[in-house]
Amino acid sequence: MKTVGYAAHDSSANMVPYHFERRDLRDNDVAIEILYSGVCHSDLHTVNGDWGAQTYPLVPGHEIVGVVTSIGSAVSKYKVGDQVAVGCMVDSCQECDQCHNHEEQFCRNESTPTYGAPDRITGEITQGGYSKHIVVREEFVLSVPEGMELSKTAPILCAGITTYSPLRTWGVKEGSRVGVIGLGGLGHMAVKLAVAMGAEVTVISRSNKKEADAKALGAKGILASSDALAMQAAANSLDLIIDTVPSKHDINVYAPLLDVDGTLVIVGQVGPLEEPNTWPLIGGRRRIAGSLIGGIKETQEVLDFCAKHKLYPECEMIKMDQINEAFERMAKGDMAHRIVIDMTSLDV
Ligand SMILES: [Zn+2]
Ligand SMILES: [Zn+2]
Repeated sequence: MKTVGYAAHDSSANMVPYHFERRDLRDNDVAIEILYSGVCHSDLHTVNGDWGAQTYPLVPGHEIVGVVTSIGSAVSKYKVGDQVAVGCMVDSCQECDQCHNHEEQFCRNESTPTYGAPDRITGEITQGGYSKHIVVREEFVLSVPEGMELSKTAPILCAGITTYSPLRTWGVKEGSRVGVIGLGGLGHMAVKLAVAMGAEVTVISRSNKKEADAKALGAKGILASSDALAMQAAANSLDLIIDTVPSKHDINVYAPLLDVDGTLVIVGQVGPLEEPNTWPLIGGRRRIAGSLIGGIKETQEVLDFCAKHKLYPECEMIKMDQINEAFERMAKGDMAHRIVIDMTSLDV
């Protein structure tokens, strides 16, 4: 199947139109016309080669929403016309304990990312959602519940599941005290999801500048990490912290905010941190943990949860040819929302 997308041809992250082919349908494949594609900070990191050398041309995008256009002969879950979604993975071994446990992101034989990785059968490099069409095996296609606003759904597939999974793993419920560090694509979803679970949410940010944004999302307010007195007063006040900071940072500032047995979960930064001090961990049985997206079952769960609560990411719609400008803006810093590409604007 011929299709078109926007690809990077080298690590300069300059995206240009790119004509390529999607594979012929295998028996268990679903062909999807992509309507919306979210723009994730990791798209930028990946095309830049920040997380390792890439094979170019590379079409990024792993927050995908569209409509089924055809199905393989063995597909039973989907039919032509269904609204569907694809997230950060398109395959895994389906045989190991983690796959059986619905945690395909931790597949012992490595799950296949939606773009930039070899297909398990042909070895050709997977290409992502900044394109008109995609072909994905049935097991990695999500169902978008009836009535959801498709134009706002895409970011749930990465920013949503990445924050939902740790909130669920650490048992957030009515009355839980949750801190969210950073108020970008991940942070703003963490706030909305935790609030919908009944938690009392505090946004932790360098200054009070985003207080109004935080409150609009349902948080009780901002704790400014630059305010030493406020930070001291907030010691032991949180059960869980979702740390969405995307760059090297110092968790020693935040660990004392956790109550005894509290956990700080890193979901934003891949790579080294400033040297951690073990005292806050030892002196309060606090934990530092990490979390990576979520399995397919849990990704379906967050879609259903968002549909039920009418909870959507804050989205800013762009046209496909505005992607380079969007990357530049994203590189400059936090935006309390997510950029989504209207894929119908790609007409070349
Ligand atoms: Zn992502
Ligand atoms: Zn596996």
